[in-house]
Amino acid sequence: MKEKYDIIAVGMGPGSIFMAYEFIKKNSDKKILLIEQGKRVENRNCPIEKLGKCVKCKPFCNITSGFSGAGAFSDGKLSLYNPDDDDIHVGGELHNYIGVEKTKDLIDYTDKIYLEFGADKKLEGTEFREEVSRIKKKAKKEGLDLIDIPIRHLGTEKAHELYGKIEKFLEDNGITLMFETIVDDLIVENGRIKGVKIKPAKSVDDSNYKSEEILADKVVLAVGRKGANWLVEMCDKHEIKTSAGSVDIGIRYELPDSIMKDINKYMYEGKIIGRPWPFNDKVRTFCQNPSGFVSSEVYDHNLTLVNGHSYKDRKSNNTNLAILVSHNFTYPFNKPIDYGRNVAKNLNELGNGNVVVQRLGDITRGKRTWQEELERNSVVPTLKSAVAGDITFAIGYRTMTDILQFIRQVDKVVEGFANPDNLLYGPEIKFYSNKVIIDEDFETNIKGLYSIGDGGGMTRGLMMASCSGIQMARNILGMK
Ligand SMILES: Cc1cc2nc3c(=O)[nH]c(=O)nc-3n(C[C@H](O)[C@H](O)[C@H](O)COP(=O)(O)OP(=O)(O)OC[C@H]3O[C@@H](n4cnc5c(N)ncnc54)[C@H](O)[C@@H]3O)c2cc1C
Repeated sequence: MKEKYDIIAVGMGPGSIFMAYEFIKKNSDKKILLIEQGKRVENRNCPIEKLGKCVKCKPFCNITSGFSGAGAFSDGKLSLYNPDDDDIHVGGELHNYIGVEKTKDLIDYTDKIYLEFGADKKLEGTEFREEVSRIKKKAKKEGLDLIDIPIRHLGTEKAHELYGKIEKFLEDNGITLMFETIVDDLIVENGRIKGVKIKPAKSVDDSNYKSEEILADKVVLAVGRKGANWLVEMCDKHEIKTSAGSVDIGIRYELPDSIMKDINKYMYEGKIIGRPWPFNDKVRTFCQNPSGFVSSEVYDHNLTLVNGHSYKDRKSNNTNLAILVSHNFTYPFNKPIDYGRNVAKNLNELGNGNVVVQRLGDITRGKRTWQEELERNSVVPTLKSAVAGDITFAIGYRTMTDILQFIRQVDKVVEGFANPDNLLYGPEIKFYSNKVIIDEDFETNIKGLYSIGDGGGMTRGLMMASCSGIQMARNILGMK
């Protein structure tokens, strides 16, 4: 007899673990299984720290997979909201499903859970109102929006610890956690979900492996960006309805803390949005890490992407942040993930499988950066495995123009932002699946199949992915 659960969640990122937490808190007697292809949080570690280079961990990258998903190694910046603002500017589109006020309540509720499990009580970005308002005005003059919201910073090492406590809490309270197991396929019959097919993570490349079935009344897809590719396959195969998605392509920018000192001090993270000439594409900064470290992460088919984080205790002298351009394609092209993958693949090849780094001044002079030049550069790269080269060979004209124009605009607000020694690392790409179409209960067109978190395109970030999980549990329990 096959095993049967009330609810199975695919993936163990913040989306599904906060869903499980809420089921416990609401005293539900549901039999719940969470399945994750990566490892338990205490077994996740990234060898790059010791070895100085990415060894492409098999079968899955420890940065992006495992308990708490991309969250465990993330810098753990929880973006809250501005109480004076009547909109939500950061973290995706949850508010389009449940409304702005309810989203704010949910953020308050979720923030308290993070505090309960040991998050730092200090909120960044609330103290220096006048100074922030001055920078905001300056930015406005240059056609840039500076989004001003409080941030709770967990720090990479503390995030690890905090999620370890949540993992224990879930298991102690009867949630079944299955690790190093891939959900290979969904079981759909007559437009209704029946369960999932699983196989061990180590057999990821063995297409002949006979997968095992586990049944469930409801399946929640919470696969994050790591599972975006798989989700596209599932949507095609099972006719799960989607709308055109997007992909964010850009670079990780690294510059001295001294240039970013005001924004770092007053806001911790300055989220800047612009629409530079001539394309008017949306360009934004994301995931700013004062005194942080640039990192790399590996996605399916060994794609190496750049990211960044910062620790609570270990500090560098540099700030890093992503500069991302949103790409929405029009007829007849509708393959944003493939497009992003191709850009990443070309850049990886140029870097011999690694992230490529280039000085801003070299880009404007139309030349590559050489390793010897990097060694003499005033901004010392914090990602030691990055290879000096030329990212303009792989990033398209439109994206590159957007990024360079944006840097020049921000330079008028933050003096030194366009200094020639500042570093651009590529590729930094945020993959979102084609957006899964869901109703107000987060249910897809397949009865009993739901989608939450970053993977299906609803959220972008830790706080909102966590909130989507809480709301998912409430929707299933009819406690909206
Ligand atoms: C280095 C880094 C730094 C970041 N810093 C921040 C930050 O400071 N602030 C912030 O707000 N956000 C940050 N993010 C983003 C944040 O981590 C994500 O937005 C968030 O984790 C999304 O949650 P999720 O539950 O949707 O998915 P994820 O956390 O991505 O989890 C999805 C999980 O599903 C698993 N999975 C996928 N497919 C399958 C399958 N078929 N079978 C089994 N398991 C599967 C994956 O292994 C993964 O563990 C960062 C991300 C990274 C990588």
